[in-house]
Amino acid sequence: MRAAIFERQGLDNLKVKDDVLQPTISDYDVLIKVKSAGVNPIDHITVSNIPGIKPLPHIPGAEVTGIIEKVGNHVVTLKEGDKVVVYNSIFDGTCDMCLSGYEMLCRNGGILGVITNGGFADYISAPEKNVFKISSNVQWDVAASLATTTKTPYHALREASLKLNEFLVIFGASGNTGTMAVQFGKKMGAKVIAVSKDNWIKTDFGADYIISDYDKVVEQVKDITQGRMADVVLNSLGVSTWENSFSCVGVNGRWVTFGGLTGAEAKLNIQSLYRNQIKLIGSNGSTRKEFADIIEMSGELKVRVWKRFKLENANEALRALFAKERDGRILLDIN
Ligand SMILES: [Zn+2]
Repeated sequence: MRAAIFERQGLDNLKVKDDVLQPTISDYDVLIKVKSAGVNPIDHITVSNIPGIKPLPHIPGAEVTGIIEKVGNHVVTLKEGDKVVVYNSIFDGTCDMCLSGYEMLCRNGGILGVITNGGFADYISAPEKNVFKISSNVQWDVAASLATTTKTPYHALREASLKLNEFLVIFGASGNTGTMAVQFGKKMGAKVIAVSKDNWIKTDFGADYIISDYDKVVEQVKDITQGRMADVVLNSLGVSTWENSFSCVGVNGRWVTFGGLTGAEAKLNIQSLYRNQIKLIGSNGSTRKEFADIIEMSGELKVRVWKRFKLENANEALRALFAKERDGRILLDIN
């Protein structure tokens, strides 16, 4: 089969070969013919510099959708021909985290495409417990965006206990996870304030307010909320927006993150934290139950695609992730 594969880390070492061995499946696995894969920063760092990558040679690709080609003898819920997405947290199902329903925090787990081979290939195998059937009318672009881009902000907003009528401020709202967060914020009944320069986040994705002047975020949130400030602030941009975003959190508010793109070290005013009873929340992936929830909603979700690449250009696709002009998702159309 064809696969983007590397023997040594480094973007230049990622080669597309057409004689890679097709994965075998156990009795509890399915073989999926990959239709499309999302391209994410996790794939970039897998190829370039996560230490201890196994197996080697390695196929990256953490966000996959496709059609089942073959099922193992003991697979009961899936069959050949099913359109599926892969829940990309690898988990054992037996540790205390798994037993509490936090499969993505499994003590013996990791991420598909990082600790296993991924989906930048014609075929991928995955355990039945990681594979979810989706309706035939879900668009492939949305299907290829569920396992990372969609589930991550959904879980974050649930961890932050976002409630009806609350004010939600989203930094980086026109980014890939940001546009999903805007849609979920609306579905959860919140009043969504998008920090973004793009007006389409309002017209196409339903944000209630836009703040486009990054220097005036705090005072504009104050105006919009009539002094109350935000109940939940979602900010995965990292340290460059940390201070402003923390200043937007109101009394009893929650600040939540799943990324630190611009840097991870921040300074915190502990007095503001406890006087206002603010919760700082880290969020990672999603549970399988939440993944099932977003699949249920996937017919109503929209994704903004910027560029598509063929598998042969996987390398170029990864490089495009950090292009200044990027405006939406990057997808690999594989079959
Ligand atoms: Zn576990």
